[in-house]
Amino acid sequence: MLALCMAGKKRQRLSQTISSNLLNWYDHQWRNQNWRDLPWREPPKTRADPYRVWLSEVMLQQTTVSTAAPYYRNFLSRWPRLSDVALAPLEDILHAWQGLGYYARARNLHACAREVLKKYNGQFPNSEEALRKLPGIGAYTAAAIAAIAFDQNANVIDGNVERVMSRLFLIETALPSAKSELAKLAASLVPERRPGDYAQALMDLGATVCTPRRAQCQLCPIKAQCRARIDGNPERLPLRSPRRRNHPRYGIAFWLSRSDGSVLLRRRPNKGLLGGMIEVPSTPWSEEPWMLDRAVAYAPVTAYWQRLNGVVSHHFSHFTVNFELVSASIDSDSNIDGLWVSSADFTNHALPTLTKKIIAHSSGK
Ligand code: SF4
Repeated sequence: MLALCMAGKKRQRLSQTISSNLLNWYDHQWRNQNWRDLPWREPPKTRADPYRVWLSEVMLQQTTVSTAAPYYRNFLSRWPRLSDVALAPLEDILHAWQGLGYYARARNLHACAREVLKKYNGQFPNSEEALRKLPGIGAYTAAAIAAIAFDQNANVIDGNVERVMSRLFLIETALPSAKSELAKLAASLVPERRPGDYAQALMDLGATVCTPRRAQCQLCPIKAQCRARIDGNPERLPLRSPRRRNHPRYGIAFWLSRSDGSVLLRRRPNKGLLGGMIEVPSTPWSEEPWMLDRAVAYAPVTAYWQRLNGVVSHHFSHFTVNFELVSASIDSDSNIDGLWVSSADFTNHALPTLTKKIIAHSSGK
């Protein structure tokens, strides 16, 4: 019993040392103007605006800091408050989101702003539980908002944090099986004092010092406690189970032009990848290349479809889609459902990158 009690106290002291070393390092980076200059970041010991934290965290889901930063600045200048996002037309939000990808995030952003305005009078709730019930806010984003904006004792876990934990505690279980063990270890370190700054310090450590291929252990504030550093080869962690190969998908896009020069576009269904976005009409995405005689069953009109040279490829995070293109023209008075858009008007629509690539290829630009 006494031995158990002493082991518990030792673990507690270790946790306190690790969290206070990280907080001291975070403060030191700020004082020396050596920290990550992120447009959404507040100085240490300052409570951040929940709207800004939420906006940045939604943009950072599946997007790098350097890509998200200009979008974040643009959104804040156009819609400085949450209520501005809630009252803006969805089409404007989607348009401003163009190029960031994963457009379900933009739709959820708009839906979430409306719900917070209606249900919480424009003020985000401060508990992880309530935050998770809002559109587009999952476990990570809820924990990040609760910690950074409300200084709640939340356990903020992303890939960077998992990497640091696996090295700090020398975890030999491979990801993704190790996730819950790493989350428990991370939770054991979250301090009562300044949990928001602590969460950001840990993220910074993972992003700048404890990096995947070249950990800079000599600069690390928790190097004395790190078991992987002592073991001598931290970069081998975290271990990962072999990935399943992701098969490419294939589609045929139908470039239909009218004699007045406009081209047929249409809106994708709201659910699924690129939900609600504008596209060039196409077949479903198949795991096998399409034969044209089968593909024309999905064409918007019966016409003389001719193949265009080349293929348009686009990479999503888990697979690549390859599009062949066929074109046809019809008379201006043909009655076909969809959006007829002139080339001068393409920029007035919220177009995902894949659609832009198909347009550029088909129109020879
Ligand atoms: S000592 Fe090295 S491996 Fe350990 S946490 Fe720090 S940077 Fe990562």
